[in-house]
Amino acid sequence: AKWVYRFGADQTEGRAEMKNLLGGKGANLAEMASLGLPVPPGFTITTEVCTYFYANARKYPAELEAEVKAGVAHIEKAVGMRFGDSENPLLVSVRSGARVSMPGMMDTVLNLGLNDDTTEGLAKKSGDRRFAYDSYRRFIQMYGNVVLGVEHHNFEEVLELHKQDRGVDLDTDLSAEDWLKIIGEYKQRIEEEIGKPFPQDPHQQLWGAIGAVFGSWDIPRAKTYRKLNNIPEEWGTAVNVQAMVFGNMGDDCATGVAFTRNPSTGTKEFYGEYLVNAQGEDVVAGIRTPQHLTLEGKKANKSTLPAMEEVMPEVFKQLDQVRSQLEKHYRDMQDIEFTVQQGKLYMLQTRNGKRTAQAALKIAVDLCNEGLIDRKTAVARVDPASLDQLLHPRLDPKAKKEVIARGLPASPGAAFGKIAFTADAAEDRAAKGEQVILVRVETSPEDIHGMHAAAGILTTRGGMTSHAAVVARGMGRPCVSGAGDLRVDEVQKTMTVRGHTIGDGDTITIDGGTGEVMLGEVPTIEPELSGDFSMLMSWADSFRKLKVRTNAETPLDARTARQFGAEGIGLCRTEHMFFDTSRIVAMRETIMAEDVEGRKKALAKLLPMQRQDFVELFQIMRGLPVTIRLLDPPLHEFLPHSKEELAEVAKASNHSVEWVTHRATLLKESNPMLGHRGCRLGITYPEIYEMQARAIFEAAAEVKKKQGETAEAEIMIPLVGIPKELSLMRAVIDKVAREVIKETGVELPYSVGTMIELPRACLLADQIAKDAAFFSFGTNDLTQTTYGLSRDDAGRFLQAYERQGIIKQDPFISLDQEGVGELVKIAAERGRKTRANLKLGICGEHGGDPASIHFCSEVGLDYVSCSPYRVPIAKLAAAQAAL
Ligand code: PEP
Ligand code: MG
Repeated sequence: AKWVYRFGADQTEGRAEMKNLLGGKGANLAEMASLGLPVPPGFTITTEVCTYFYANARKYPAELEAEVKAGVAHIEKAVGMRFGDSENPLLVSVRSGARVSMPGMMDTVLNLGLNDDTTEGLAKKSGDRRFAYDSYRRFIQMYGNVVLGVEHHNFEEVLELHKQDRGVDLDTDLSAEDWLKIIGEYKQRIEEEIGKPFPQDPHQQLWGAIGAVFGSWDIPRAKTYRKLNNIPEEWGTAVNVQAMVFGNMGDDCATGVAFTRNPSTGTKEFYGEYLVNAQGEDVVAGIRTPQHLTLEGKKANKSTLPAMEEVMPEVFKQLDQVRSQLEKHYRDMQDIEFTVQQGKLYMLQTRNGKRTAQAALKIAVDLCNEGLIDRKTAVARVDPASLDQLLHPRLDPKAKKEVIARGLPASPGAAFGKIAFTADAAEDRAAKGEQVILVRVETSPEDIHGMHAAAGILTTRGGMTSHAAVVARGMGRPCVSGAGDLRVDEVQKTMTVRGHTIGDGDTITIDGGTGEVMLGEVPTIEPELSGDFSMLMSWADSFRKLKVRTNAETPLDARTARQFGAEGIGLCRTEHMFFDTSRIVAMRETIMAEDVEGRKKALAKLLPMQRQDFVELFQIMRGLPVTIRLLDPPLHEFLPHSKEELAEVAKASNHSVEWVTHRATLLKESNPMLGHRGCRLGITYPEIYEMQARAIFEAAAEVKKKQGETAEAEIMIPLVGIPKELSLMRAVIDKVAREVIKETGVELPYSVGTMIELPRACLLADQIAKDAAFFSFGTNDLTQTTYGLSRDDAGRFLQAYERQGIIKQDPFISLDQEGVGELVKIAAERGRKTRANLKLGICGEHGGDPASIHFCSEVGLDYVSCSPYRVPIAKLAAAQAAL
């Protein structure tokens, strides 16, 4: 095997594509060298050596020593200096470099090769003794710490004592003689600590540093970082040994970092900072104020310090050329590091730059328009999930924030406002112009008006598919749910957490994209949809195979979704249409009636409202399919609780409060999610589904008469687990359809299908498909019933499961592909066996999750359906799945 790859002007053996072997840094150094860019020569020891090192009790392959020696000779020849030479000493840096960047996690040693002799040589050659001694003491300190394991405080103590003796505050006030003394004391400290003198032999130093860098792959912080970022342990790091160049040898020297485009806005401008007479760490450490590269940058940031463009115009011009050369070559925005030594430019690193969502979008579109990438590449470059940031207000990244609690990121966007503890208070105060955050233990249908009025919603209980989360996402309101550390006292109207007590009317900020809850007002930035956004979406549409529909029941949601390009409604939850305070009473009357007569009376009140709802929806969605799910109310969400609520129902139904209270007690279930809901309601009370079917068909007839065109109604039966349930319900619907067609004389195309939300339905999909024109996977319930995990309560302990690695991700957020997904596959396959043209879709919350969308595409579903604000995300993810 070959263990060492050289790079430099004379000889370069690696390429950018060899990241797995050479690490990101090594591969890109080699690539830049082959492009003829000024890269200090060096060599990369491969990641395979790292693998060998750990597989063989920290020993190296036998051939490595000779290869490293030859590598050093390659550098010596290229720069005309010698390692360990007292006249003209070569110094090197030794740096880690894994396949992907692990910033600051592993070790680095600079100025290696300095000892008592070579330091004198460096002093003579540079004509600057202070510089030479300063470099030597930095090296001893770094090597002593990283390689020899001597703790930092040892060096800090020596330095502090010396400064006190000399009566100075700053390192820069120390002279060459001071540094020389400090060097002596550093070496003494090291000998005391490790019982051996500081190594003077540069080759010994080099092997010490190589071992330390390989060893740092295994230190705790690097391991933790890998775990958090899903970086496999087996990858290992490479080691880069490279000739040192100095940005701190005088005023014709400098060092800096830059992005080839602005990483926060994406604007095509050279964006970076530099420092004159400084080393790389000084820019990062923030001790001195960095200066801007360009005059424009200087102006934009109101800096008074001169720009590089002014100070070193020639070098700047060269750097600017390197910038465009790198962009053209890599076809992406680059993040670069450079050093100027005595007026000569050196490139030390390049890599694809990290960027905000906004910048990613703009850069992808611009690069495509500039002809550097094609449309497919542009579509693949933007992370669908990041679009969330573009569609909702977000926290001003410059703002300070005090996070007091964390919950689930239930609905994206950031908002601040004064706390209201009840929906009524939220509505009243919002009506007076106040910006409020509604804080509840959990929300229920009665809170809808308050949720709508609030700028954001915070709950202390409930998961990603809890009522609050689903409703907030639909409305596009930011929501943090299940912030379990917060204690809400609804009576006292206070919220407490770790020593803070926050009262009614106090201001908090929530970030529904991260789940953070913050004290006070953190400024937010409004989203702005640029032309780039619609451009990229149109490119995505041209590649996409999956259709994207929306989950919507209100005209507002439907309109929003259509603006985002939804191709129909995939789920209209009809019970949500009765959340409104004016309707919920009639709805309660319906479910609480004790006989058909009582129910029919209540249903007669609901029919006209329901019909009007559908008229509006069909008008908005005309020409597109609208899937209407018949009533599926988990009873606990609808039963009246308070005295007022009980009294209201009593009045509306002409019963006594006692009677209503008694009915409510009778209807209470121990396991409402597995209870009298879904089609079970339709089976026991067919008149409910009859009313709904009538409302749908009458509405369709009305719209068709008026407009000549309506939406295609797809009527969907929820929670089917037994084929017979579906055939019975279908008969009810067909009968009503025939009646309405006859009554109105309008021909109404419609279809009947079912939700697939129970494992049994998946297994019996072949039989169920006999009566279903379509299946829509209700993966919220299907996840709940497959795992036997309550979708409303699981948030409380699932985080512990994630922390312990029992599950990778909350299965209510991203579809569990191997479990729940297997059932989806089975159902799709068995269903299509019975009915080849069975239409398949998904309408659980997973329909808006990019990873789940990829899965849906693989399984061959026809569409996904998600909340309105997720439509663009789903479209982009669907396009990527098809690339
Ligand atoms: C589902 O169960 O996935 C679904 C879409 O229905 P709901 O969330 O209304 O139960
Ligand atoms: Mg469901």
